[in-house]
Amino acid sequence: MKPIVIASNNQHKIAEIRAILETVFGENLPEVKSLAEIGYDKEIVEDGTTFEENAAIKAKTIASLGYIAIADDSGLCVDALDGAPGIFSARYAGEEHDDEANNRKLLRELENVPDENRGAKFVSVICLAYPDGRTVTARGECPGKILRTYRGTAGFGYDPLFFYEPAGQSFAELSGPRKNAISHRARSLAAFAEKMRGEKLQ
Ligand code: IMP
Repeated sequence: MKPIVIASNNQHKIAEIRAILETVFGENLPEVKSLAEIGYDKEIVEDGTTFEENAAIKAKTIASLGYIAIADDSGLCVDALDGAPGIFSARYAGEEHDDEANNRKLLRELENVPDENRGAKFVSVICLAYPDGRTVTARGECPGKILRTYRGTAGFGYDPLFFYEPAGQSFAELSGPRKNAISHRARSLAAFAEKMRGEKLQ
């Protein structure tokens, strides 16, 4: 059986998706590979206007090479910023994936926003694409609040500023397994697993 390819170069996301796929599919999970492991080093241009479109663009690009591919497009949507940074989360401050600059900009933008208006959500959309063009898409959201100072050092991206109220901790204070159990990505993958129930990954 051909491997499933995770269409991402973000090591954190690859690790999270891999861990969650293993939990969901257990013994039935084919080998999971990253883009680097199949030798794919081109940049995939994400020019969609929604998380759904961007996830499909990534998954379909790799599926067109003959693999079953799974992609996640995710980001942070802040209420007081009308949903920004949204699909632009990775490059909010300009440079792609400069987490520190992105977090500084977020703190600046929300400087004068009172605590009660600092609601936000992480969104993850998973798209699995087959070489024949079929796709399965699922969305997961995790609500939280944007902190005024960093808390915790685990995770990546906006994790130190994202306060998850049910745990009383920021995402960067949660252990990997705990974050993986409740995160937007855990939720999109759970919704995805539900849709895939009974289907074979082939
Ligand atoms: P993507 O790689 O285009 O999907 O960009 C996702 C961006 O959203 C990341 O670079 C982070 O800035 C942010 N993001 C997505 N998921 C998370 C998460 O679990 N924790 C923190 N930031 C995240």
